[in-house]
Amino acid sequence: MINLILFGPPGSGKGTQAAKLVKQYNLYHISTGDMFRSEIGNKTELGLLAKSYTSKGELVPDAVTISMLKKRVEDNPDVKGFIFDGFPRTNAQAQALNEMLAEKNDDITGLLLLDVPAEELIIRLMDRAKTSGRADDADPKVIKNRIQVYRETTQPVADFYAQLDKTHYLKGVGTIDEITERLIKSIDGILAVPQVAE
Ligand code: ADP
Repeated sequence: MINLILFGPPGSGKGTQAAKLVKQYNLYHISTGDMFRSEIGNKTELGLLAKSYTSKGELVPDAVTISMLKKRVEDNPDVKGFIFDGFPRTNAQAQALNEMLAEKNDDITGLLLLDVPAEELIIRLMDRAKTSGRADDADPKVIKNRIQVYRETTQPVADFYAQLDKTHYLKGVGTIDEITERLIKSIDGILAVPQVAE
């Protein structure tokens, strides 16, 4: 299987690029952010809980996020692979994902990190707020907190995969198509290396 993690700060373009990569590689896209927004929209119990965190720019607790993700993976046993978008965001989530994949004799193929300067992120998110209807994009205080949480809690996940030689840094500034091209080049490079049997 091909299991890719699309990684980067809020507003780095993960969702946009995931949609492109899904088509290119025929993978199944899992966005924990989209899943939470759908639960919030349906006013489910999980949605109500999630909203109390997302509205402040905090992470939803690991136990909740991991069990939601695990169920989505288990519900799709026959896919060619996954694009994880917005997950894992903590070391505990990364560990849970590794265990989940190891149970299926599987592993993460690579992590692609979209690098975008903080000033650009704030501009993009404020701009997106005009059309996305996302409450967490509209408030500069919440945006700042999301970026801080990314730096403090989420970035270490990329360092963890870097130790396994699985993190690939890409410039996340440019046109959407330029960035897609960069991603495809990087992923094709990863896939060209024969996977060593353990
Ligand atoms: P962005 O990358 O633009 O911040 P997402 O759509 O990925 O937005 O996520 C929106 C919100 O959903 C996050 O700010 C967080 O509150 C919650 N969330 C998404 N994924 C996770 C996760 N893996 N762990 C905890 N919370 C999450």
